[in-house]
Parts: sequence; C-alpha cells; structure tokens
Amino acid sequence: MSTLFEHARKLDAYGEVDDFWMLVEGDTIAATGHGTAPAADETVDVDGQWLVPGFVDLHCHGAGGFSFEDGPASIAAALAVHRQHGTTRSLVSLVANPLGVLKDSLSAIAELGDPLVLGAHLEGPFLEETHRGAHNRDYLREPLPSDVAELLRAAHGSLRQITIAPDLPNALEAIEVLVEAGVTVAVGHTNATFEQTQLAFASGARLLTHAFNAMPGIHHRAPGPVVAAFEDKRVIIELILDGLHVHPDVARLAFTAAPGRIALVTDAMAAAGSTDGDYQLGSLAVTVANGRAVLRGTQTIAGSTLTLDHALRRAITDVGLSPRDAVEAVTLTPARALGLEHRHGLLAEGFAADAVLLDHAWAVTGVWAAGEKL
Ligand SMILES: [Zn+2]
Repeated sequence: MSTLFEHARKLDAYGEVDDFWMLVEGDTIAATGHGTAPAADETVDVDGQWLVPGFVDLHCHGAGGFSFEDGPASIAAALAVHRQHGTTRSLVSLVANPLGVLKDSLSAIAELGDPLVLGAHLEGPFLEETHRGAHNRDYLREPLPSDVAELLRAAHGSLRQITIAPDLPNALEAIEVLVEAGVTVAVGHTNATFEQTQLAFASGARLLTHAFNAMPGIHHRAPGPVVAAFEDKRVIIELILDGLHVHPDVARLAFTAAPGRIALVTDAMAAAGSTDGDYQLGSLAVTVANGRAVLRGTQTIAGSTLTLDHALRRAITDVGLSPRDAVEAVTLTPARALGLEHRHGLLAEGFAADAVLLDHAWAVTGVWAAGEKL
C-alpha cells in the first residue's frame, strides 16, 4: 500500500520546499521531491497547506480527563487527544510514586505494544524536595543503586528518559548507570548549582527538564542549571511554552542562547483537551481554572493543559520564531534528545511516515502516523 501526498508546502528543520510531494510505503517515507510526482495506490492532494513532520513530545502526563498513571486504557485515551493535535510519538511521563507503583507502571508501559509510544519517562522519584513542584514529597527518594537497578529491571527496556536532581547523594553514579543502560537522563526538579549541573552533564545527562521551572533561575553571580545547559552543546533543553510557565521573552532568550537545542514539551496533565475543574496528578489534587493547573489551594503550577500544536503557534506568534525554527523545536530536536534523529523529525526518505497538515493559521487539519491517518 503506497500513499502520495502532493501539492504541499513542506516545512521541517531542513527548510521549506514548495510544490512538495512525499511517497509513503507502509510506515516509512519512501521518496520525496517537488514538481512531477510518481504514481501511488492512493493520493492525498493537500492543496498548498503546510506539511510538517509529526510532533514528538518528550514530557506529558495525560489529556482528555485521563492520566498515564491509570493504566493502558487511560494511556490510550489521553494519547488519542494529543494525536489529534499533531503529536505522533510520545513518551509516557510518570510522577513520583512508591517504587512498587512505578515498577508496575513501567511494566505496563513495556507491554503496551503501541509503536507510537517511544517509552516511559520517570519524572520522579529522584527529585530535590524544595523543588518538587507537583510531586508528592512522601515519595521522593535518593537514587540508591539498588532502586535504580530495580526500576531498570521492571521497565524491560521501555525506560527512555528519567529526570534526576544531580544535587542528591548518589546522583552522579546513578546517571552513569542509566546512561550505560541507554536511558536519556535529564536534570530537573533540582537545587543544583551551575557546577553541579556541569558534573551531571559530564556524567552523561543530556537534557534539562522544563527549563526555568522547578530549578534555580539565572543569577549574575550564580548562573545555575539553565546557563550550564546553554553552554553545553550536547544538551537539549525542554521548554513549556503555554504562556504561563515561561515568559515569551525568556523563551526567546533561550532560543537565542541554544539554537537548535530547545525542545518544546507539553508537560500536559489530564485537563489538556478537557475542561476546567478538579483533577488528580498522581496522588495530588489539582484544580484547573482558565487552563491553568495548580496544586489545590496553592499557587504551585501542576503541569499544563498544553498540546504541541498550541506550543508551535505560540512559538511563532508570541516568541517570534521563524516557522522553521518553531517546527524544529517540536520535531527534530526532541527526536535528537532520544537518539532517534535518523528515523523521526524530518520529512525525508527512510524516516517514519509521521506527518501533520496545518492550514495558514497553523491549525491542524490532518495527522498521519506510521503511514496511517489518525
Ligand atoms: Zn515537572
């Protein structure tokens, strides 16, 4: 079965091509070009709309009233919401919970059998208490070697990302073990200094979890984790561009300081694509009003109600990025954070047939993943 997309304005990290065509065979892009297109079993005339790679979300907790903590059916229901907004490949993020609960969740994710799920992201439990954000204090712990080994065993290879506070005892050793096991290690929910963060990167950490949120900010005498990440070209930096977590002018600073290294993430909780009201994030109660999620009775932000198409629009309109740079931040850059840049993040031969169609106001009008229309 082959499908031809024709008359597209292609836009990916490699730039824009007009009158673009793309031939898909099975779950893979077989060929691309512009002008006269080859024949195919089925043709989709996209009539001059933008065709961009499917979005990759490195950090997400749920949507549509469903949380990833609540088992396979809830994971599927939440991902269905994000897929309608252009996210074709996802990590399933888990908040801090007792070790046994996390192990069960990891085992369940390993057995999902969904090729669009790239694996699990353990956001907790190895977080620094004063920067715990919306993670339950009772479930935070130090990354003891035995606990790290147990989690890796339970994950059966499905653990793709983990957030660690490098200022915790044993953190650097844990980072080395996890990197050796093929896990992308992120620095986050931390009180780490500039120097401690540099040590984490030297130990193999390659990502910064939601930059600026749940970590010391930039001070002129204490540059902190964000400047350490800006300076290290191996490191990719997550940003939650929902207009609430980071000011658009600070987001612009980040894109200028780390070109090609900002990955927009949703950090979405169950209220994304749903209504305001009362929700759970792991074991904690959350209230959502006007799309802003906080731990009930506090001002502590508890995830977002963002989808990646919305983040893309904000990157263009609020931050003033070029459409190319904005698309890169939801496609190739997050794929690179997982070492998947040879298969995901571009509309090119040999890449996964994941594509999003967008109208001239950057609204999603069609989504395909692994060659199938969603
Ligand atoms: Zn977080």
